[in-house]
Amino acid sequence: MLTKSIKDWGLGVDTKKPILIAGPCSAETEEQLIETCKQIASKTNTSILRAGIWKPRTRPNSFEGVGKIGLPWLNTVKQQTQLPVTIEVANTAHVELALKAGIDVLWIGARTTVNPFAVQEIADSLKGIDIPVMVKNPINPDLELWIGAMERLHLAGINKLAAIHRGFSVVLSGPYRNLPKWDYPIELRRRIPGLQVICDPSHICGKRALLQGVAQKAMDLDFDGLMLESHINPDQAWSDAAQQVTPDDLKKLIDALLIRKPASSDPLFIDKLDSLRGTIDHLDQNILKLLGQRMEIATEIGKYKKENNIAVLDLERWKTIFDTRMKMAGANNLSELFADGLLQAIHQESIKKQTDVMNNSMIEE
Ligand code: PEP
Ligand code: MN
Repeated sequence: MLTKSIKDWGLGVDTKKPILIAGPCSAETEEQLIETCKQIASKTNTSILRAGIWKPRTRPNSFEGVGKIGLPWLNTVKQQTQLPVTIEVANTAHVELALKAGIDVLWIGARTTVNPFAVQEIADSLKGIDIPVMVKNPINPDLELWIGAMERLHLAGINKLAAIHRGFSVVLSGPYRNLPKWDYPIELRRRIPGLQVICDPSHICGKRALLQGVAQKAMDLDFDGLMLESHINPDQAWSDAAQQVTPDDLKKLIDALLIRKPASSDPLFIDKLDSLRGTIDHLDQNILKLLGQRMEIATEIGKYKKENNIAVLDLERWKTIFDTRMKMAGANNLSELFADGLLQAIHQESIKKQTDVMNNSMIEE
């Protein structure tokens, strides 16, 4: 299990927050890789340079990466920039070649994290090796699978771990290529204190125009760093052209980020914040008390329906509740998405209370 006793979670390379990881989606040619990385290193405060050597593509017969011939190019990049380099590994052969080539940091891609067999094989091939590994979220929104992948690596002795949030492949992803689920990285940090969490705006956005907003949001949520794709000639990139930016635009994006302090020692600020938080504590207490009372009434209704042999769900009543409460929520400045989720959760719990009564079951699900 991911124990709290581990002190050295994190990439273990000399990095200041926010850690910046940048480079092209793919290494295409020696010139493209070296020129891109040199420009990134000279124009920005990037800590680690990235490039894909083996590319997991959706369809065959598209560019699947240059393969191992790109590894010596990364060595040249290291020498010329004096920065550590990272590549994606998806199987044991990749791991062996990466280690032999002196790659400093590995990352596991979203399409690999999703597969416990693949992750276990990679973890086994890393036994006894002290190398930082970054684990992208799986393509589907499954927090446990993401944690599970890190557990497999941790159990194999890898302690220098970081998680990368690159969004999730869902049917309705709005303007994004991969929908970000900001509660997941927050929950990750709650469950694994000390774990470094990086945001990958490039794969979340899929297009340049959205990058700044997503990168800023990650900073506002206190992510430890960013992974961003950059290419000397983005429009001509052999993979992920629409989301890559020139090293100059990468610099602009980073310079425009507002890095706010996580806390303040100003007594006036602390006083005011404490008072506002006191009000929140009080309101939460009331909300939970009221919800408890609401559930007690739901249980009573369940008993009454049982005595009279009436079914639990009354669709018309639920429709009325939903419509009226959504209006009330709107009038109280609550967003539709939030109100919808809250009402559904309350209704589900009420139904559960009533079915428990109906079936006399006290079994915890
Ligand atoms: C990548 O970083 O280029 C990549 C393939 O990412 P992901 O695994 O997030 O799709
Ligand atoms: Mn990419």
